[in-house]
Parts: sequence; structure tokens; C-alpha cells
Amino acid sequence: MRIAVVGGGTMGVGIAHRFAANGASVAVVDVDLATAESAVRRVADTLRTASERGKLDAGELDQAINRVHAVGSVDELEGGLDLIVETVIEDAALKRTILVAAESRDPRILASNTSSISINELADGLVAPDRFAGMHFFNPVWAINLVEVIRGEATSTDTLAAVAAIVKFLEMEQAVINDAPGFATSRLGVLVGVEAIRMVEEGVASPQDIDRAMSLGYRHPMGPLMLGDLVGLDVRLNIASHLATVYGDRFEPPELLRSMVAAGRLGKKSGVGFYDWTSGSPLPIKES
Ligand code: NAD
Repeated sequence: MRIAVVGGGTMGVGIAHRFAANGASVAVVDVDLATAESAVRRVADTLRTASERGKLDAGELDQAINRVHAVGSVDELEGGLDLIVETVIEDAALKRTILVAAESRDPRILASNTSSISINELADGLVAPDRFAGMHFFNPVWAINLVEVIRGEATSTDTLAAVAAIVKFLEMEQAVINDAPGFATSRLGVLVGVEAIRMVEEGVASPQDIDRAMSLGYRHPMGPLMLGDLVGLDVRLNIASHLATVYGDRFEPPELLRSMVAAGRLGKKSGVGFYDWTSGSPLPIKES
């Protein structure tokens, strides 16, 4: 299988890793060749770490690393790839421009890893929207085995079958969702996340107690507040704001979320969110 990933950030690196580890040849495109090369180095690092942890056969490490290469722009991609996955920042206009350019390279399947933008909206401008679908991966892609497959109005059954085969090739599982803002995972995950933040705001319980309740009571692998810290509270705020415009007040971001993001308390990536991550592990915040 030969694929390309457009956008070599957190998700692009993870998607490239997963395809390369499973035997695909992967081109990584970013804003320029140097940025794409830096993403390729990060893919090699994550593959090495996977090998050290016994998740990838030592004998396959060099081959997997050698399967990934950098390309400076979408226009330089080889024609007729099996798949091009767009995974640039969550900006509909940018994504549409990239998808149109990617389609002109005539891939068998074109996909977007958007976490919240409508697939029908992204398909606008494509010549063959029947060959386009959402393939929503989860971070870290090498560890989470779900692809949320989004079926747009024009996505054909042949495309869905080809996507299902790609998911199988990756040794992952799919959930097929009709295009609706937030799909299934962002819509449910963000709703629980914003309600948990409202509960902290109202003094119902501490973040630790809310998270403990959900992880032990409902067997969630982690509570909604810790998950928000890992995803990034700015990312949560963006998605909640977008979904509030579609579904109304139930997604309205709580004031506490807005003020934390405005203060730079974004979660793990900034060191502090609902937990203190400065030691590398989540610790309760000691309010001064
Ligand atoms: P990121 O900011 O880490 O990476 C985005 C990358 O896109 C960067 O490397 C950037 O240089 C590149 N880029 C920007 N403009 C470009 C252009 N014109 N051409 C080529 N590359 C360009 O973002 P991310 O967290 O990897 O998210 C990417 C997408 O995946 C978004 O749509 C996001 O909503 C979605 N997503 C994110 C997560 C997550 O947990 N981070 C999970 C699922 C889906």
C-alpha cells in the first residue's frame, strides 16, 4: 500500500507511524520540505520507541523507518496513491484547498482526519466526492485502535469498502457514522467534558473526585477532566464552541473553560489544566 499524509503534526506523525509499522510506504507532506523532514524524523523516533517497548519487531524497525519519506508539497506527490489523508490544522478553508490539490494527484481514496468539520462541507469543491470520506484517528494513533469512518452524502459504497480494507490493513476497528457535526466521538466526548467542567464550576466535586467517579463507576479508562487536559483545553473549547452553534446551549462552553484557556491553562501541553502536569504525571492543583 502507498499512501500520503498531508500535515506532519501530532496526528500526521501518528498516522504515518501506524501505516509504516504495518508495511505501507508513506509520504509525509507539510508546509515545506524542511518541516516535512522534521515530521519524518519524529515518525522514526516514535517507531524506535515502539520497538524499545516491544510493540514493533526489532527486525522490522529499519524497514518501517525507511518506508517513510518527506515531500515538500501536495503537488509533488506521486499520482495514483491508494490513499491521501489530510490532517492539517482544524480550519475548513485550508482543508478544502488541500483536498482539492490532493484530489488532482488522483488517489484511489481521499480522506480527512477532521475531528469536527462536516465531511459534506469539506467535499464541496471536489470533482469526485464519492471517493472522499472522513477517517478520524485518535491520539496516540499507534495505541488507539479505532477509526471513526465518516460517510458523507456523496461517499460511495465502494469507497466505504476500500476504507474498511485499509482499516483492516492497519489492524484497527471502525465505527461508521453518517456525517453530522461532531460525529459520534467528539459529540459525546465534548458533551460529557463540558458538563464535568460545569460541575467543577458549580462546586459539585473536585476534578479528582469527578474523574474517579467516572473511571471507577463507569470503567472509563480516565475521567473527562483528565482527558480534557490530555486533548488540550483549547481544542475542547474550539470544538464545543463549534458544536454550540449547531446544537445550541447544551454545548455552550462553561465560563471556567474560557477563562482557563485565556489564562494559558491548556492542560498537559502547557503544564497546567485541571491537573498539574509539570512533573510529567497528573497531580492535583495546589491553589494558592
Ligand atoms: P498539529 O497542529 O499538531 O499539526 C498540524 C500540521 O499541519 C502541522 O505540522 C502544520 O505545519 C501542518 N500544516 C499547516 N498548514 C499546512 C499546509 N498548508 N500544508 C501542509 N501542512 C500544513 O495538529 P494535529 O493535532 O495533528 O491535528 C490535525 C488534525 O487532526 C486536525 O483536523 C484535528 O482536529 C484532527 N485531530 C486531532 C486530534 C488530536 O488529538 N490532536 C485527534 C483527532 C483528530
